[in-house]
Amino acid sequence: MSLDIDYYELLEVERSADEKTLKSSYRRLAMECHPDRNPGCDKSEAKFKAISEAYDVLKDPQKRAAYDRLGKAAFENGGMGGGQGGAGFGDFSDIFESFFGDAFGGRQRGPARGADLRYDLEISLDEAFHGKDAEITIDVASACGTCEGTGATPGSGKRRCNLCGGHGKVRAQQGFFVVERTCPTCHGRGEVIEDPCNVCGGEGRVDERKTISVNIPPGVDEGTRIRVAGKGEAGPYGAAAGDLYIFIHLARHKVFERDGTTLFCRAPVSFTTASLGGEIRIPGLDGAEHIILVPEGIQSGKQLRQRGAGMPVLQGRGRGDMVIQIDVETPTRLTARQKELLREFRETETGAESPQSSGFFDRLKGIWDDLT
Ligand SMILES: [Zn+2]
Ligand SMILES: [Zn+2]
Repeated sequence: MSLDIDYYELLEVERSADEKTLKSSYRRLAMECHPDRNPGCDKSEAKFKAISEAYDVLKDPQKRAAYDRLGKAAFENGGMGGGQGGAGFGDFSDIFESFFGDAFGGRQRGPARGADLRYDLEISLDEAFHGKDAEITIDVASACGTCEGTGATPGSGKRRCNLCGGHGKVRAQQGFFVVERTCPTCHGRGEVIEDPCNVCGGEGRVDERKTISVNIPPGVDEGTRIRVAGKGEAGPYGAAAGDLYIFIHLARHKVFERDGTTLFCRAPVSFTTASLGGEIRIPGLDGAEHIILVPEGIQSGKQLRQRGAGMPVLQGRGRGDMVIQIDVETPTRLTARQKELLREFRETETGAESPQSSGFFDRLKGIWDDLT
């Protein structure tokens, strides 16, 4: 019955219309085509439903934004992921959400759907690098095994709900509108249980400890959310289950810090290597030893970059870089022989041999002599 006309056109407003304009236009149209004013007219009834649907979306800024971007498609997929249950692991809501914003925040699911759950999982940077299959244990409302989620004692029957006559909805007057809402007696199911299951009290679900396997893909970062469809709370009275969201947290690593796909570390380098050049070896998270060439004369604080030695790109190809910051170390314990060599070295620094000698000390001496 739904009329496939643009919501703004239906409500006879501009796309830029503000909330107030929307509301007054909706009110005017709703009055015109309200079924109570046009008894027996299918056309009015269809239009009334259509404008109500349109107003329902446009009055909610988030839904409106989603509609502006995607049209009705934004809502047709509303049930995505719900009730898929089973093996829907590794379904990345983050990627969805970056696409659709919170358009699905108001997911057009029945009110009876089970709640979504959050689980915080800490993993090591190594695990984030390689990905892992994690097993998590949660206490969650699950479909009652005795009544298989129906809420009725096995073998007992159901009868039609008296209050709503089996429609699952009741009509109520609200101002001058008649609104439909979910029947409070049968919760929208249209039927009531004659003999409630005594294990779950007729709700169809019981708390249960469950172990769930979750596939953590390589490249996840602090705050990455992984949606495990259908592994949230079971819905009451056999309704669809919610989703389970795994929030990833990364434990500190003793060598690397991470910024996106870049792995950052500091490497101590002896002053001789810093002066003469050489190489340092860094064990990467990939298990390989990365040989980093240190150019001669490198200064403390200088950063070297090893391309492709960083974190893998989540759900993508390739890897980021490894950035190594050089910390030149001053030796603290020298043997007598080493000291002797360094003294000898120092003499070359001020002597004629030194390429850096620019007569600086001679000039300084000259100034000193002038002053005294
Ligand atoms: Zn039960
Ligand atoms: Zn009812």
